[in-house]
Amino acid sequence: MKIPFNKPYFTGKETEYIRQAVSSGHISGDGKFTKKCHEFFEEKYKFKKCLLTTSCTDALEMCAILLDIKEGDEVIAPSYTFVSTVNAFILRGAKIVFADSEINNPNIDISNLEKLITRKTKAIIVVHYAGIACEMDSVMALAKQYNLFVVEDSAQAIDSYYKHKPLGSIGHLATLSFHETKNIISGEGGMLIINDETFIERAEIIREKGTNRSQFFRGEIDKYNWIDIGSSFLPSDIIAAFLYAQLENLNHIQDRRKSIWQSYYKQLLPLKEAGKIQLPFIPEYSTCNAHLFYIICRNLQERTNLNNYLKDKNIGAIFHYLPLHKSPYYQDKHDQRTLPNCDKFSDCLLRLPFFCELGYYEQLFITDHIKLFYEQYSK
Ligand SMILES: *Cc1c(COP(=O)(O)O)cnc(C)c1O
Repeated sequence: MKIPFNKPYFTGKETEYIRQAVSSGHISGDGKFTKKCHEFFEEKYKFKKCLLTTSCTDALEMCAILLDIKEGDEVIAPSYTFVSTVNAFILRGAKIVFADSEINNPNIDISNLEKLITRKTKAIIVVHYAGIACEMDSVMALAKQYNLFVVEDSAQAIDSYYKHKPLGSIGHLATLSFHETKNIISGEGGMLIINDETFIERAEIIREKGTNRSQFFRGEIDKYNWIDIGSSFLPSDIIAAFLYAQLENLNHIQDRRKSIWQSYYKQLLPLKEAGKIQLPFIPEYSTCNAHLFYIICRNLQERTNLNNYLKDKNIGAIFHYLPLHKSPYYQDKHDQRTLPNCDKFSDCLLRLPFFCELGYYEQLFITDHIKLFYEQYSK
């Protein structure tokens, strides 16, 4: 048996919708399927305005432009995250002030956030790691007090909630990813969510190469012109057609993923209770969207051994996020602060295979081997 780390799930409708997009004669951006996707999100989650983008990375780059990030501005973000979370702001000249993670989950450490704010701070970027919510009331209160913007990098957080509010609906701006490794996919793809409506008009312009072409196509103006900076951030309607097939099946996909998540948790609970591993911690203010399942080993050596052991059994576990504050690109730019919780997750966290079609017996095969490893090699 060989169990990959990820396997993209297809609902079966994707190719039919792509065929429809092609035969409609409109395959560039903002066609029929793009509109359907926007409406889906605006209706289901009551997001004020949604704009599909070519990736979450691009949506984050749009955020940096929208917030007018300039040379010398400071942006606070977790170090334990994907590069794009912060690279988008680096491109506009920002200095990233890296925050540590919470002690019991990889999200941004709220209790030490205020200390990182200076006169130059412009924005706080939070990442809802594994679709588990950051403590947003505190983040928004700080933002209000110091007049900062909040961006939710919700790349992993589709269909997850903080105190009954959908993630992505709380910050001034938020982003989603539909990369092949996420819950809902379009290969590559993403979305910008605009909750502060003062950004809507400019977001449409930035997304259309700095022109007011969106207004022109809606018939609101009689010619379009170059009025701001921007780029080509909108996806082809072919991508949107694929995505719409996924969105129609969101409930099914989420039910399936949640049941896999629960089953991992149940099977591995004895190891947690024996003090050998830690399992994901979900604060009571957050739901879990079953984006990924991880365990925390006791140290780097043990994780390396377990990972090699699983590899040997053809089980595709992976670890991730080398701390960004120690990366070759940023280590010289980072101030001297140590970020011990970030380092701990980077050393000890192991992600287990997770995809819709992961079968029950495959899952047992994985968890039995993890248990065997702890019985035989790492008591
Ligand atoms: C996947 C991911 C991204 C990047 O998404 P793309 O759509 O691949 O650009 C950004 N941030 C986080 C936290 C992610 O998990």
